[in-house]
Amino acid sequence: MTFLRPTLLALSCLIASPAISSDLPSLGDASSAIVSPQQEYQLGRAWLSLVRGQVSQLDDPQLKDFVESSVYRLSETSQLQDRRLEFVLLNSPQINAFAAPGGIVGVNGGLFLYAQTEAEYASVMAHELAHLSQRHFARGLEAQQRMQIPVMAGMLAGIIAAAAGAGDAGIAAIASTQAAAMQEQRRFSRQNEQEADRIGLVNLEKAGFDPKAMPRMFERLMRQYRYDRMPPEFLLTHPVSESRIADTRNRAEQFKGEGITDSLRYQLMRARVQLIYEDTPGVAIKRFRSMLDENPGIDAARYGLAIAQIKGGQYSQAQESLQPLLKKAPNDISYNLAMVSIETAGNNLNGASTRLERLLSLYPNNYPLNQAKVNLLIKQGRIQDAERELDKLLKRRSKDPDIWYQMAEVRGLKGDTIGLHQARGEFFALVGDYDQALEQLGFAKRRASSNFQLASRIDARERELIEEKRIIEQMMR
Ligand SMILES: [Zn+2]
Repeated sequence: MTFLRPTLLALSCLIASPAISSDLPSLGDASSAIVSPQQEYQLGRAWLSLVRGQVSQLDDPQLKDFVESSVYRLSETSQLQDRRLEFVLLNSPQINAFAAPGGIVGVNGGLFLYAQTEAEYASVMAHELAHLSQRHFARGLEAQQRMQIPVMAGMLAGIIAAAAGAGDAGIAAIASTQAAAMQEQRRFSRQNEQEADRIGLVNLEKAGFDPKAMPRMFERLMRQYRYDRMPPEFLLTHPVSESRIADTRNRAEQFKGEGITDSLRYQLMRARVQLIYEDTPGVAIKRFRSMLDENPGIDAARYGLAIAQIKGGQYSQAQESLQPLLKKAPNDISYNLAMVSIETAGNNLNGASTRLERLLSLYPNNYPLNQAKVNLLIKQGRIQDAERELDKLLKRRSKDPDIWYQMAEVRGLKGDTIGLHQARGEFFALVGDYDQALEQLGFAKRRASSNFQLASRIDARERELIEEKRIIEQMMR
C-alpha cells in the first residue's frame, strides 16, 4: 500500500480552513447535537478503511492476535460499554497509538520498540481505551456541532504523519502541526488527556498490571525526546510534562499490592517487531547473540535469534536455537510456528502438518495457528481445503483485509471467478478503495446473472458499499 501525498495535502488544507465546518454535511439527524453511538460506529469503520488505504500495515498474525487479545482483555476491566472493537497495526517504527470513534484501536509497530514491558504497553492502550469509553470525540462535539468529520480528517493526517515519521519530515511536519493543533483543541484537550490518564490508570490496575508502569513509560519518553526539535506525533498530541508524570506517579503509588509488570509473551512479540525493523537479519542475529552472551536465560532473545536465523535462511542453526525453548515449553505457539516455517522451508510438509494439527487440537480457535494451516494447505496444493479453512477464519474475522486478499487468491486458483471478484470487492472496500470494490462486484454480478439468488445477494452488498462510499466522500470533502 502506498503513501498518498495528494490526499494528505488535501487533508492539511481541509484542516487549515476554518470555514469548512459550515458546509460540512451532517451525519444523520442535523438537529441532534451529538453523533449517536451507531453513527459513530459507522463513521469509525469508514474512517478505518481510509487509514488502511493510506498507511502500510503489519500483516503478522501473531502480532495482530496479541494486540487484539491484549486490548480485549484490558477492555473487560475498562468503562467501555460498546466493546465492538476493530484493530489496525501500522507498519512504522515511530511510536504511536490511537483510538478513534466507533471503537477503532490502532497501534504502530513502534510502540513495541519503545514500551519495554507489557505493563508499559498496556498503560498506553488503557489510556487510549479511556478516550473511547469517555467518548471524548462526541463530547467535543457538544462545544461545536458537526466538528466530528474535520476532527477525524485531522486525526487521519496525524496518523499518516506518525507512520511516515522523521523520514519524511517535510510532509510530516506540516500534517502533524496542523493535526496536532486541531487535536489539541478538540480531542486532546488537556482535560481529556488528564481524564484518560486517570481512568486508564484505574483500568491498568484492575486488569492486574502494575500501575507504576504508566509514569515509567512517560518518563522514558520524556528523557528520550527532551532535546528533540521534532518529537514524534504521539508526543505532540500527548505532551509529556513533569506535572503529568508527577500526577500519574502520585496516583499509581496509592494502589496497593503487586501488579504484573511483564510477560514472556510480550517479549516474544517485541522480538518479532524488533526483527521487522532491523536492517538485515544478520544485524539482528548479532544483537540477539550478544544479549544471550550477557544473559543466557533470556528466552525472548533466544527466540529472537531463532526467527532472525530463519529470516536469514539459516534453518539448521535456527532449529538448534529453538531446541532448549521447545524443551521448556513444548506447546508454545510461537516456538512451534517457528518450527513450522523451518519444516516448510525444508519441504517437510508432513512434519509441519502433524505439528500444526497437534497444536490446533490444544488451541482450536487460535488465529495464527489457523492461518499457518491455510498457508500450508496452499503449499500442499489442497486448494479446496484451504478455502474451507479461510471460510472458517472469515466467520471470526470478517473485516480482516489480509484474509479477504488470500481468499481472492485461493478462489482464483480454484477457478471460481465470481467468488474471486466478490472477495476482491470485500478487500478493496476494507482498504477504502470503493471504486475498485464496486467494479469487482459489478464483474461478479454480471457473471452471476443466471443465478438469481446469488445476483441479488451481490446486488444488496453493492448497495451497502455505495452507502459506505457516500460516508467516505463526505469525510474527504
Ligand atoms: Zn490521549
